[in-house]
Amino acid sequence: MGITVRHLRKTYDGFRALDDVSVEVPDGSLTALLGPSGSGKSTLLQAIAGLEAPDSGEVLIDGQIANALPPRERHVGFVFQHYAAFKHMTVRDNVGFGLRVRKRPKAEIRVRVDELLHLVQLDGYAERYPAQLSGGQRQRMALARALAVEPRVLLLDEPFGALDARVREELRGWLRRLHDEVHVTTVLVTHDQEEAMEIASRIVVMNQGRVEQSGTPTELYEHPATEFVMSFVGKVNRVGDAYIRPHEVVICSPDRDDCLPATVDRAVMLGFDNRIELTLQGGERVWAQVTRQEMARLTPFPGQVVGVDLSRRRRPGAAEAASTSPEGAAIAAAGAIRRDRHPE
Ligand code: ADP
Ligand code: MG
Repeated sequence: MGITVRHLRKTYDGFRALDDVSVEVPDGSLTALLGPSGSGKSTLLQAIAGLEAPDSGEVLIDGQIANALPPRERHVGFVFQHYAAFKHMTVRDNVGFGLRVRKRPKAEIRVRVDELLHLVQLDGYAERYPAQLSGGQRQRMALARALAVEPRVLLLDEPFGALDARVREELRGWLRRLHDEVHVTTVLVTHDQEEAMEIASRIVVMNQGRVEQSGTPTELYEHPATEFVMSFVGKVNRVGDAYIRPHEVVICSPDRDDCLPATVDRAVMLGFDNRIELTLQGGERVWAQVTRQEMARLTPFPGQVVGVDLSRRRRPGAAEAASTSPEGAAIAAAGAIRRDRHPE
C-alpha cells in the first residue's frame, strides 16, 4: 500500500515541526526519512501512524484519506528506537501479543509466531525473556511483533539507533533482505546518511520541518537540489560556491592548463578509501578520493606540487534548474561549470 502525504503542517506551541510537507511513499518500497535531529522525522511518522493529528494537510494510505482513522484502523506496524518489550512475557508472547488481542486461535498464533521468529532469525529464542536477548535481537523481536498483525505499512523510527555501530551495520543488511522477502511498504527514519543510502530505494531528506529533496540515493548524490542535501548526503568538497565530490577530483600534471596548481598536505591510505589532502593556490583545501593503484602511481608526499582537475564541480541544483529535458540539464550543468572555471 502506497502512502501519500500532502501539505502536512504541525506546530507545537507555535513551533513548526512540519511545515508544508508532501511525500510520496511508493507501494512496496523501502523509503528512508533522512534528516538531522529535530527535523520533523518522528512527527511525520507519527502523523502517518495516526499517533499525532496534523494541523492541516492529508495522509493517504492506499489512496484513501486516513486523517480520521484511528491508528488501529490504519494497519500500520510501528517500531521505535527504544522498544518497550513486555519484560514479564517470553519472546513468543511478546511477538504474539497483537494476535492474542485480536483473539486469533491459539494454534494459529503458535504457527505464525514460529514463522515470524524464523523470518527475523530468532529460531530457538521463543521461550526466552527480553532481558536474555542482546540489543540487536530485541529490535528484531520488535520487528517480528510489528509484522505479526500483517500490517499494510511498516514504520520504523530509528530502530537501530541505540545499538553499537557493528550491530547496526549487520542489521542494515538484514533489514534489506527482510524487505526483499516480505515487500511490505516500509518507512525508515534515520539521521544516518550511510544507513539511508545503503538500505533505502528512495530517500526523503528533511530539514527544519520541510522536505529538502526526494529521490533515489543516486539522484540525491549526483544531483543534490540544495546546499543542505549536498552537504548532508555523501562526502563533498566546496570550491568557491561550487562543490565537487572527492572521487571527482582528478590529480594531474601541474603544467596542464586545465589543471589548477595545488600542494599535497597529506596522503592517507585506508585500504579501499584512500585520500589525498590538498591546498589550492588561493588557500582553499580539497581532498581527492583515489584508488590504491592511483595512489601507487602518484606516490604523493607532503609539499609536492601537483595539478588538480576540478572541471566536474558544479552548484547544488544547477542541473535541476533546466531539467525539462536531459539535454537541457546537461547544458545547464556545463554552463555552471564554465562560469566558475577560473574562480577568483
Ligand atoms: P526528529 O525525529 O527529526 O528528531 P521530531 O519530529 O521528533 O524530530 O521533532 C521535531 C521538532 O518538534 C523538534 O524541535 C521537537 O522538539 C519538536 N517536538 C516534537 N514533538 C513535540 C511535542 N510533543 N511537543 C513539543 N515539541 C515537540
Ligand atoms: Mg525522531
